Amino acid sequence: MAVTPKVECVPTVFDIALTTRFRGVTRRRGMVWRGRTAWAEFSPFEDYSPEECVPWWRAAREAADQGFPPPLRQTVPVNAIVPAVGPEQAASLIAAAGGCRVAKVKVAEPGQTAAQEIDRVAAVRDALGEGGKIRIDANGAWDPDTAASRIAQLDKAAGGLEYVEQPCATVAELARVRRRAQVPIAADESIRRAADPFLVKQHQAADLVVLKAQPLGGVRACLELAERLELPVVVSSAVETSVGLTMGVALAAALPRLDFACGLGTGQLLSADLVLDRLLASDAVLPVRPAIPDPALLAAHSADPAERRRWLERLDMVRRLADAQGPRR
Ligand SMILES: [Mg+2]
Repeated sequence: MAVTPKVECVPTVFDIALTTRFRGVTRRRGMVWRGRTAWAEFSPFEDYSPEECVPWWRAAREAADQGFPPPLRQTVPVNAIVPAVGPEQAASLIAAAGGCRVAKVKVAEPGQTAAQEIDRVAAVRDALGEGGKIRIDANGAWDPDTAASRIAQLDKAAGGLEYVEQPCATVAELARVRRRAQVPIAADESIRRAADPFLVKQHQAADLVVLKAQPLGGVRACLELAERLELPVVVSSAVETSVGLTMGVALAAALPRLDFACGLGTGQLLSADLVLDRLLASDAVLPVRPAIPDPALLAAHSADPAERRRWLERLDMVRRLADAQGPRR
């Protein structure tokens, strides 16, 4: 059994408020540490099981100890992100999104009506102006019939959607929606949280796939997956700090083809960061460069002792599971 080395340097557990509620949470927590090649972030969502966290650990280890494959480009295009907010806030997020001409709008938020979604999408369309593109993400929340009607309404409000991300939960439902919809369908959770990501391809359930470096085991694992899936890729983040975002940027920079703006402009969802020179979009791109935390910012955003203990225990459990599984197949 391959035993991975312990984390060499003591990790910092960070705890940063989000600017708006996202994925039902208001704070982002995780760990960062300096490895042999670079700084690494391990920040699986808090509701993920230890088994689901193993790829996040493998991704962090790649960043820390192996480094990233050589980049094929020096900047990567990014989209703005609009959570389930009201139309005024949606418009101001676009204005503050570093020149992004593409926006991803969250929909299917529990408790919100179709009218609220239409208003949000229309506000984003107006804020982007001519030539802007809108994609929506339902996080698998719709049934196929609801998806069909909402997609038609939102496609109209957007003046034509770029694509719809994970309208329904299952691969069979995605395939059904794809056959009926006039809009391209992207698979996210059906790749990232699936026992078999290749079902999407087998069932022709998506026109493109969303790949996230940390949840899918790192940059090299994603490059291999992209090659085997043979579908266009949208690289997205897992709402990381700038340290974690470097994984997504490295993936986007190393992909042979990059036809879509990447969902890596999520730095603006965090109220603060661990580095002085944050990875925020400027002229709608992010640069390919390392992110090195600032000691004062690390101290300022350290979690309290109980949270720190909890994350160290979490990391230990995940590391043991990863060791037991051996090297990635
Ligand atoms: Mg998604």
